[in-house]
Amino acid sequence: MAEPVIDADVAVVGAGAAGLAAARRLLDLGLRVLVLEARDRIGGRSHTVITANGYAADLGCGWLHSADRNPWTDIAIAQGRTIDRTPPPWSRLALPVGFPLAEQKEFRDALDAFRERHGLTGPFALYAGRLVAEKGVDVLMDAWRSVSSELTLVVVGDGPLAEAVRAAPRTRLLGPLPRPELPVAYATAQFALLPSIPTPRFLEPWGLVCNEAMHQARPVIATTAVGAVAGGLVRDQQTGLVVPPSDSRALAEAIDRLAADPALRVRLGEAARASVAAYNYDAMVEAFDRALATAAIARTRNRR
Ligand SMILES: Cc1cc2nc3c(=O)[nH]c(=O)nc-3n(C[C@H](O)[C@H](O)[C@H](O)COP(=O)(O)OP(=O)(O)OC[C@H]3O[C@@H](n4cnc5c(N)ncnc54)[C@H](O)[C@@H]3O)c2cc1C
Repeated sequence: MAEPVIDADVAVVGAGAAGLAAARRLLDLGLRVLVLEARDRIGGRSHTVITANGYAADLGCGWLHSADRNPWTDIAIAQGRTIDRTPPPWSRLALPVGFPLAEQKEFRDALDAFRERHGLTGPFALYAGRLVAEKGVDVLMDAWRSVSSELTLVVVGDGPLAEAVRAAPRTRLLGPLPRPELPVAYATAQFALLPSIPTPRFLEPWGLVCNEAMHQARPVIATTAVGAVAGGLVRDQQTGLVVPPSDSRALAEAIDRLAADPALRVRLGEAARASVAAYNYDAMVEAFDRALATAAIARTRNRR
């Protein structure tokens, strides 16, 4: 049997939005394109159906996702269309299940106000802490240069490395923030970073920023030199990602991995919030009490 002749430079599998866009681009470049579609229609998940009453209903394409950076927004504006800039409905729970609608609105308003106050658009990763070498700030700057995700690094804090941070690409230095703003900063970020490195005079004792981020259901990428990792709060692949200290390549890979995988962020973030719940003031007082009692027993024994 003769081989079928395919008269094309490129075969595109699937006539969904992505396949059709790719085919159009290839045609514009002067290439011959063959689009192969398994269904009996094009459009994939986004397509138009005609209802029984003769109305056209667009399925799978009602809203412009990420309209703040979606190229279709400019096309729609050029066509003279009105852009509805209200938040999309899927960001609101239909029923007030344990989180009253008024509080949901207050929460969203706080996040929006934070972004507006600091001129932040788009997704970002957060580093909060002193801008010094032992916190791994140099390693982070190095890693950030090779991160391929379209993500801004937002840096909260101050220190000798502030100038280096300010000069880094796709980085915003906010300086020190008032305490009450920090939970909002974590909640607005996609994830937090604590790339501390051990030095002869420093080993990150715990890294409370891990707890702060995790309380906002944000996973942390931390190094094995961080106390919260040694202490079992930040667990690799479970409540965050753990990388070796001073390894900018591993850090960049972890950043790209978390930036590219929303499902992973949600899984780690939810597990992080559940794990950190046990680290509260009551538990701290109890542990302190136990430590004092143990010390008192040891002292009594030593006296005998
Ligand atoms: C209910 C719903 C509502 C949505 N609402 C919105 C919205 O409001 N705004 C928005 O931006 N997005 C929305 N989306 C998402 C949006 O529809 C999709 O992101 C988009 O259509 C995906 O396009 P795609 O080309 O990547 O994939 P698809 O649309 O899935 O296209 C893939 C195509 O490949 C074909 N195919 C697969 N395998 C093969 C094969 N082996 N051989 C041949 N053909 C193959 C499939 O049949 C399909 O036609 C919605 C989706 C759903 C389901």
